[in-house]
Amino acid sequence: MRARFPAFITLVAGLACQPAQADFRSCVAGLRSHALAQGISAGTFDSAMQGVEPDLKILELMNNQPEFKTPVWDYLATLVDEQKVADGKAMLAKHAGTLARIEQAYGVDRHTVVAVWGVESDFGQIASGRYLPQALSTVACLGSRRQEFFRKELMATLKIIQRGDLAAEKLRGSWAGAFGHTQFMPTTYLSLAVDFDGDGRRDLVDSIPDALASTANYLKKSGWISGASWGYEVRVPQGYSGPTGRGGKQSTESWAGRGITRIDGSALVSLPPAGLLMPAGRNGPAFLVTKNFDAAYAYNAAESYALAISVLSDRLKGRPGVRGAWPTDDRGLSRAERKTLQERLIARGYDVGKPDGAIGALTRAAIKDVEARLGLPQTGRPGGKVFDALR
Ligand code: CA
Repeated sequence: MRARFPAFITLVAGLACQPAQADFRSCVAGLRSHALAQGISAGTFDSAMQGVEPDLKILELMNNQPEFKTPVWDYLATLVDEQKVADGKAMLAKHAGTLARIEQAYGVDRHTVVAVWGVESDFGQIASGRYLPQALSTVACLGSRRQEFFRKELMATLKIIQRGDLAAEKLRGSWAGAFGHTQFMPTTYLSLAVDFDGDGRRDLVDSIPDALASTANYLKKSGWISGASWGYEVRVPQGYSGPTGRGGKQSTESWAGRGITRIDGSALVSLPPAGLLMPAGRNGPAFLVTKNFDAAYAYNAAESYALAISVLSDRLKGRPGVRGAWPTDDRGLSRAERKTLQERLIARGYDVGKPDGAIGALTRAAIKDVEARLGLPQTGRPGGKVFDALR
């Protein structure tokens, strides 16, 4: 099962194949020496890397950057859809006891922890994934960038196996190495994962208490202020020309003095020092964000990610989502709508594979074709205009 890769032969022309494979062999020999020098046993290395061939699909993924930057409204429409909110509420109820103990131990509220879980793995949809020693050795040896970074992640993976926290075959995840319920990188795992169910192993794959407590620990170590909120949506006066950005944190009084109110026009409620975030510019929604927003940002360095976690945590508390309008006339789609979009494309004769809501190359190509027919710029983006046109 592990890493025998018949597609390797068919994916690339024979001429390109041989040097890549030879490079890989000699690189893996170098990784072995490196591992041994770090205290990883020959037995651990050889067993974990047995039969591992490079996964060339990963190099394709690594090199094929998306053609456009995903707009923040697409990001939120997909990650904070009604299904995610309903599933998250069910998880809050199901794991209430564990989450209460985690709040007690780490001071991070359950809604944020569950929001990270929902965004990272859709509450534990982690059964399939790439075998980490294969994925990480591929990018450490043949990747176009950050080889040193991925070599460190591979060494951390081998250390996790050697310690007996997780069996090698359990270590499956993204091509870049994130794994488990809340998608920890191996180096992060070594420094921040915790054993919360008390069985002596830190298991982020099969133990929900370990995974969720490790997430709370991560947020706490990233500066989480216990009992404080991430912030809230605000209204900024017309012609506002003051400071913006996560970094320029100021007191609530200072923001009130600049004419900023809550989104409904009421007076600001006191927050720890906060920055004024306008993720889609001056014409889009605005938020005051505290260090708790920054802790979510530390988990995955994108403001749209931290906003998804923050807004989802609010929705899980029964609060409204974003109320201001995004500066677009082409809204983002939920996962259910993306699936419907694919079904509509299939009904029009396009081959988009199985309609699963995941937008891959086939779906993007079909969308581009529809966009061309509609006289729209060909972006391949799944948006409301294409969705409605195919109704
Ligand atoms: Ca454990």
